[in-house]
Amino acid sequence: MEVVLAGAGHTHIEIIRQAEKFREMGHRLTIVSPLKHHPYSGMAPGMLGGTYSYDDILLPAYSLAEAGGAAFIQDAVAGINTRTSVIRLVHGGAISYDIASVNIGSDAAEDHVQGDHIFTVKPIERLFEAKTYISNLASSRSPFRVVVAGGGPAGVEVAGNVSHLITSLRNSGMPARGRVSLYASSSSSIGGYRGRAGAYILKTLKQMGVAVHQGERFTLSVHGKSDAADAVLLASGVRPAGVISTLGLPVGKTGSITVNKYLQVTGEQAVFAVGDCAEFSVGKTASLDRVGVYAVRQQQVLLHNLLMKVSGNSDQLIPFRKYGPYLSGLNLGGGIGLLQWKGFLLTGRKAFLIKDFIDRRFIRRYSVSEGLGGQDD
Ligand SMILES: Cc1cc2nc3c(=O)[nH]c(=O)nc-3n(C[C@H](O)[C@H](O)[C@H](O)COP(=O)(O)OP(=O)(O)OC[C@H]3O[C@@H](n4cnc5c(N)ncnc54)[C@H](O)[C@@H]3O)c2cc1C
Repeated sequence: MEVVLAGAGHTHIEIIRQAEKFREMGHRLTIVSPLKHHPYSGMAPGMLGGTYSYDDILLPAYSLAEAGGAAFIQDAVAGINTRTSVIRLVHGGAISYDIASVNIGSDAAEDHVQGDHIFTVKPIERLFEAKTYISNLASSRSPFRVVVAGGGPAGVEVAGNVSHLITSLRNSGMPARGRVSLYASSSSSIGGYRGRAGAYILKTLKQMGVAVHQGERFTLSVHGKSDAADAVLLASGVRPAGVISTLGLPVGKTGSITVNKYLQVTGEQAVFAVGDCAEFSVGKTASLDRVGVYAVRQQQVLLHNLLMKVSGNSDQLIPFRKYGPYLSGLNLGGGIGLLQWKGFLLTGRKAFLIKDFIDRRFIRRYSVSEGLGGQDD
């Protein structure tokens, strides 16, 4: 059978790691992804702040596919015709499937705003471009201002890490005369937290020199015009990936692809959808938080169900049940973190080290011993 994975996100990366299983059973696994290496968002703020290099945070989708005997097509999915079982690719080609799965993530809410100095936090590659841009500003003697718009988890992580980046560049001898401002429209929460956790985030950001404007919005025109900032990082949330509306699959209340408890697209036996791009069609957990944690929790369910489908055991699919609470964490920059599990809060260096351990272990799980193969064009 032909099994096609659209996107190499947090769920599919595990299927790709297990590609050999499909080959051993006589099936062909093909991955369609615009990038040969998928940047891991959990470590992206740390990459921006200089704790990790860009290579450190890459999940080697192409190399894993190659090692497991799977085919890799560097392209993006434009449409899925479930009647003819054909996937249309952005660059013109098409590919047939017997079983398909979609894991294409979400887009930044403001990705329509344009400007050379404007960077959305998604796709994660943009944060690497932001780091290079801010490092260039730091090499000049002129003062500059970086604005982070959005006071959710990504916004506070980005603000703390940009501030740490500027401080590190200054310590290494660059003029780095930069200031960082964070605009958070909510005045009652920061970084998605209230109470003690929220107070800790505010205190830490202020100590790092970030000017926090709570209850204030930073607005840009669609052309990205603003005299007030030399670099703008837009972190005001994510929305379903724009391409979802053109895929031809059913979408739900949040604009994501609707799936049943087996992760099958509503009304389709042969197409699955997972991660940020999927929402459950029924139940109070219909739309889960758009966090990588859920995409990772779906890995084993998807793997099992794909293997059951290809071996003709459609009656043995297992449901996704891990809706429950998850350990949430922030890297605030400079080796400072925050972890929260239900009511328990851990802050400071220890919290950072635990998050760092979890993130590095995740990356290590997908490392290919002979190194990253294939360059992204
Ligand atoms: C700065 C930041 C930090 C975050 N930190 C955390 C954290 O610490 N913990 C956590 O749980 N969550 C975190 N998140 C949220 C997390 O990034 C998402 O929830 C997670 O990436 C969702 O995983 P996914 O596999 O659904 O999608 P993604 O990880 O976005 O993967 C989707 C993949 O699909 C590819 N793709 C896109 N379009 C197409 C197409 N048309 N065809 C084929 N491929 C396509 C993309 O290139 C990408 O490789 C963070 C988000 C941000 C922005």
